Amino acid sequence: MKDFPIPVVAESIQIHPRSIKGRFRSFKSIVLYLAYAVFFILPWIPWSRPVGENQAVLFDLVAKKFYIFGLVVYAQDIFWLAALLFLAAVLLFFSTALVGRAFCGYFCFQTLWTDAFREVEKMIQGDRVKRVRLDKQPWNKEKIIKKGSTHLIWLFFAFWTGLTFVLFWGYAPDLIVKFFTGQAPSAAYITAFGLMTTTYIAAGLMREKVCQHVCPYARFQSVMIDKDTLVPTYDPERGEGKQGRAKPIKALKTQEARHDAGVGDCVDCGLCVQVCPTGIDIRDGMQYECIQCGLCVDACDQIMDARGWDRGLIRYESENGLKHGKTHFFKLRTYGYGIATLGAIFFLLWSMSGHKIIEATARQIRSPLYTTLSDGRIKNAYEVKVDNKSMFKQSFNLSLKDLPEAVLDMGGIKNVSLKPDEKQRIRVKIIRDPNKSLAKRTKFQFILTPIEGKIKDPIYINSQFIIP
Ligand code: SF4
Ligand code: SF4
Repeated sequence: MKDFPIPVVAESIQIHPRSIKGRFRSFKSIVLYLAYAVFFILPWIPWSRPVGENQAVLFDLVAKKFYIFGLVVYAQDIFWLAALLFLAAVLLFFSTALVGRAFCGYFCFQTLWTDAFREVEKMIQGDRVKRVRLDKQPWNKEKIIKKGSTHLIWLFFAFWTGLTFVLFWGYAPDLIVKFFTGQAPSAAYITAFGLMTTTYIAAGLMREKVCQHVCPYARFQSVMIDKDTLVPTYDPERGEGKQGRAKPIKALKTQEARHDAGVGDCVDCGLCVQVCPTGIDIRDGMQYECIQCGLCVDACDQIMDARGWDRGLIRYESENGLKHGKTHFFKLRTYGYGIATLGAIFFLLWSMSGHKIIEATARQIRSPLYTTLSDGRIKNAYEVKVDNKSMFKQSFNLSLKDLPEAVLDMGGIKNVSLKPDEKQRIRVKIIRDPNKSLAKRTKFQFILTPIEGKIKDPIYINSQFIIP
């Protein structure tokens, strides 16, 4: 019987990318430091507010409020989250149409955490050559110590990532003490250790395999990329010439000699492959594994600089540009994504700027709908609800509009006075003489006139008065 020619499960090779310096590596590092600073420091930034915890960013699930610096987001503002997700999606489509998987290469959590884990590995085990050698050598004291300490630091880093995430959901200084004294809610331990496990597996063990086999974006990105999208590209015309690439042997050291021999500028050093975090050879053309991190551009630039040749053998280029055509950034698709992105931004800003910090409603009490008093006048009862969503005290005078000669009975309350973040329900009665009112239903408004606090404009609440 013949052997099956194709392996059912692809062989897994550990990729040890080589470190490289350059423009894109520097940009990646800046993004990484900023992202880490934001994530790890944010729960520890204090923020003074009259109610709620004094933590700048806090997602308080019990109170159903999200505190984001001066902004308080309530559960009913959840559509902001939907708008934010929509914005993230169209921004991703827009950026992918222009610059391919730039999000994957520079901003994705998987890339950021894998980068940091690789940095730890490099610090303990050395750069690429030393790591490859360590992998190949038998298990001895050196290998156990180096590999063991790498995994220990990874585990600690993954744990701190999980714990930091949890600290956004409670008052960090208290929660961390409770966490380490066993008094935190079980959800905190489940979340922290769950995230620790997934971070360790994704950033430490699986790394590029997450991008290749788990993340769906790699699979559908080709739909958004077209001939005008800028992606890291190897220029085969320049690199191969007519006779292909060739090592810089003595007779092929200078560019002139190479061109005379019909050989391209690629000196086949393999550096672009060695630095690639997904282990692919960009010279084989665009591949779905490429996360478009630009490190191969840095690598090739370094080789070109060393030889005194122009940079750009590997560069951010579009398919049209590579064929000496024009790259069209402005076309229907990018306009569409751009307009959708701007629309989502404007909607969010408009919705947040018009955010009502005082919510007021009036519900007519319907059992009974009206009462006839002994003197013949008619009484309707209402429940007026006022919710102060602000962080300051606010007082109002309650009165009526478009209901002439009506008497407002507030049951002894003079005005509506609310502390920061306080809700009040007030039972009020309106009494009218039916002889002076012809309509069976009279539409009117309650008016909340500000008398103290930052709100200056009156608030109107629609309602109706009913007679038999
Ligand atoms: S780094 Fe540049 S010169 Fe070296 S193999 Fe890659 S494409 Fe060729
Ligand atoms: S080929 Fe590799 S190094 Fe080059 S952009 Fe793609 S993932 Fe990065």
